[in-house]
Amino acid sequence: MILFKKITAIKTRLELFKKQGKKIGFIPTMGALHQGHISLINLSRQQNDITVCSIFINPTQFNDAKDFEKYPVIIDRDILLLETNGANVLFLPSVHEIYPGGVSANPSPYPLGVIETMLEGQYRPGHFQGVCQVVHRLLKIIEPDVLYLGQKDYQQSMVIKKLIQIAKVPVKIIIAPTFREQNGLAMSSRNLRLSEQAKNKASAIHDALLYVKHNIGSKKIDELKKQAAEQLLQAGFEKIDYVQVAEAQTLQPAEAWDKSKNLVALVAAFIDGVRLIDNMLLPLTSGPSPQVEKGEVS
Ligand code: AMP
Repeated sequence: MILFKKITAIKTRLELFKKQGKKIGFIPTMGALHQGHISLINLSRQQNDITVCSIFINPTQFNDAKDFEKYPVIIDRDILLLETNGANVLFLPSVHEIYPGGVSANPSPYPLGVIETMLEGQYRPGHFQGVCQVVHRLLKIIEPDVLYLGQKDYQQSMVIKKLIQIAKVPVKIIIAPTFREQNGLAMSSRNLRLSEQAKNKASAIHDALLYVKHNIGSKKIDELKKQAAEQLLQAGFEKIDYVQVAEAQTLQPAEAWDKSKNLVALVAAFIDGVRLIDNMLLPLTSGPSPQVEKGEVS
């Protein structure tokens, strides 16, 4: 694996690959890598000649300075993990390299529309502008053929799709399924901040999502959201930002189950002071689904 810290150096090398007709897959990350990230690397390796990963903890997407300070950093382990999993190129820029003019607010915000202020946007103001800022910069640097994102960050994937349209970036987007722990907890770099006990309790998010999935169509959506929230509090979550059932294409809240519309259930909640998010697509047919409950991919 080749490691680059400078934009000019990585651009020169990637241009050479492109001249050789190599297809490039790109996985942007904030490091503290886990099997969820590696599943994106594996997908890219199957579908491209060159797999580029970036590690950059983007300051402009953190609305909470403490969250930024506490974000886990384990760069040596990340490099080893990328090496052993066959990534070809790692881009590891400094904050100055990405934001040479400083990290003050984006002077020309992206016109993302309502998606920017709902759910995650409501609880993390400015977050998606920061995400767009960094992803746009990275895409201009890497110019990949395919961009790999995780369904784990459902709303973020939708926002990045919108960014691609707005900025007319010629890239294909692939959204990979959420990779989970044995107990159903979605893998996340933030899980590193959880005690073993809290990790066990945190699987309640997945259980609550499954509960919504299995009962959609047989119970009222409002009742399901209330019950799912109660389950989380009973399991030991101290605060819930939202439990929402929304239309999968627009994220507008769904009032009632309708078998002609794809719906998604989304949760954001705190355990042990750590904010976790997860989501699950809901079936178009009502009633219990026959799928495996734990470790189920959604
Ligand atoms: P992050 O490092 O958290 O910014 O994530 C980098 C990319 O990995 C994003 O596209 C995430 O959606 C994706 N990702 C994070 N966790 C998972 C997971 N458990 N399964 C699949 N993809 C994930």
